[in-house]
Amino acid sequence: MASDVSASVASMPTMISKDVIVLGGGFAGVAAAQHLAGKGAEVLLIDKNNYHQFQPLHYQVATSQIGVSEVARPLREMFRRHADVRVLVSEVSAIDPVAKTVTLADGRVCQAKTLVVAVGAEANYFGIPGAEEHTYPMYTLDDALRLGAQMVSELDHADTANDASRSLDLVVVGGGATGVELAGAVADNLRSVVPTLFSPDFARATTVHLVDMVPTVLGPFSEKSQKYARAHLGELGVELRLGVGVTEVKPDGVTLADGSTIPATIIVWAGGLKASRLIAESGMPQGRGGRVDVNTELTVPGFPGVYVLGDSANITDSKGRALPQLGSVAQQSGKWAARNIHADLTGGHREPFRYRDKGIMAMIGRGAAVAEVGPGRRQIQGPLAFLAWLGVHAALLSGVWQRVGAFASWGAAYLTHNRPQVVLASDTGKPRPQ
Ligand SMILES: Cc1cc2nc3c(=O)[nH]c(=O)nc-3n(C[C@H](O)[C@H](O)[C@H](O)COP(=O)(O)OP(=O)(O)OC[C@H]3O[C@@H](n4cnc5c(N)ncnc54)[C@H](O)[C@@H]3O)c2cc1C
Repeated sequence: MASDVSASVASMPTMISKDVIVLGGGFAGVAAAQHLAGKGAEVLLIDKNNYHQFQPLHYQVATSQIGVSEVARPLREMFRRHADVRVLVSEVSAIDPVAKTVTLADGRVCQAKTLVVAVGAEANYFGIPGAEEHTYPMYTLDDALRLGAQMVSELDHADTANDASRSLDLVVVGGGATGVELAGAVADNLRSVVPTLFSPDFARATTVHLVDMVPTVLGPFSEKSQKYARAHLGELGVELRLGVGVTEVKPDGVTLADGSTIPATIIVWAGGLKASRLIAESGMPQGRGGRVDVNTELTVPGFPGVYVLGDSANITDSKGRALPQLGSVAQQSGKWAARNIHADLTGGHREPFRYRDKGIMAMIGRGAAVAEVGPGRRQIQGPLAFLAWLGVHAALLSGVWQRVGAFASWGAAYLTHNRPQVVLASDTGKPRPQ
């Protein structure tokens, strides 16, 4: 009998208990953990990667403008001064928002008094045949590295074969900020960098196509900003196919709703995001984009002690308007949740989230950008908008050293057309989409 008991105890999953468990070391999770540090709670921060990644500079990594170390910062280093925040590197495989437990991929279970879910999002392929199999998504640092490596590898192959006729066309699906920024940066590289490193013929033989089902780019921006973006992309040689959706993706190109096709060597998916599988399987109420509809205090109705933040949540501002999936929304929601959790733990009152709008902005190749800032959404374009972009995004970087480092190396590469950080074709072990 005694041996039965010890056998069943031995087979029980290890249970880790903490006051607060934060899932995800992105903008939201890091901000929450940083603002809980030193407040008397034992915090466990779990992420499948041992680093915090800075998505706004991912396309610069994919296009060899900056190196990996500039956009990824070790989580342990970020929290080294906070003895009450423990970093655990592990993939979360399930969330139970009723028991406030999470199951890790290795079977261990962690339980908390308060659970903070900030696991970001993943590509939404909208069920389009072939999209998941044959495209490069653009969300994680791994995605950016894989895409960058493939672009360099294609150029290397064409160069080795000395085959100037080889088409290296790239299709970017999705005309939101990610698609526009990536298409602009690749087109810019084709003009300024590729001809200096490879045969100029490859650059001439390559076209960047940007496809979106809506008739414009940068949907949430004003008409003036959209017009500027379309004009600038056109100047860079980007072929715009707007107002027609992609209906199928094949290894060598895309088919559009009007029956036409665009042959391509590389297809990038920037067509939208949805909440991750973890959210879908958790039983929490899902709204737009599969994200969790949180209340104004950032908690989940019906699940006391559970907060959902950043890209995993549908968050509204004080006037009830839906906020976009942005770094500043994620970061501010993390900070605010920490404040409310502290109130929970100390018998205080939670407060409704108040978002400080930093505006919306997008880069469109070298020196060109659009920004809409301030209460009246003042529209600016060109170098001033580029500076606004730098200012807002520098504030998002969490460490002073990295802030200076990332922007200094990018600024230098930007001004000199130098690419000291060219992504190596072997930087990622993952296979390319077939
Ligand atoms: C290419 C790109 C460019 C962007 N550019 C801008 C921009 O210029 N300006 C701007 O404001 N916003 C930008 N955004 C949006 C912004 O990056 C997101 O809104 C923000 O990162 C959301 O923060 P988050 O903390 O909710 O999620 P994330 O930053 O995505 O963090 C989620 C974390 O959860 C971890 N995780 C996920 N699943 C698991 C699991 N199962 N187990 C353990 N850990 C897990 C991930 O590793 C990650 O660290 C961009 C996004 C992308 C993809």
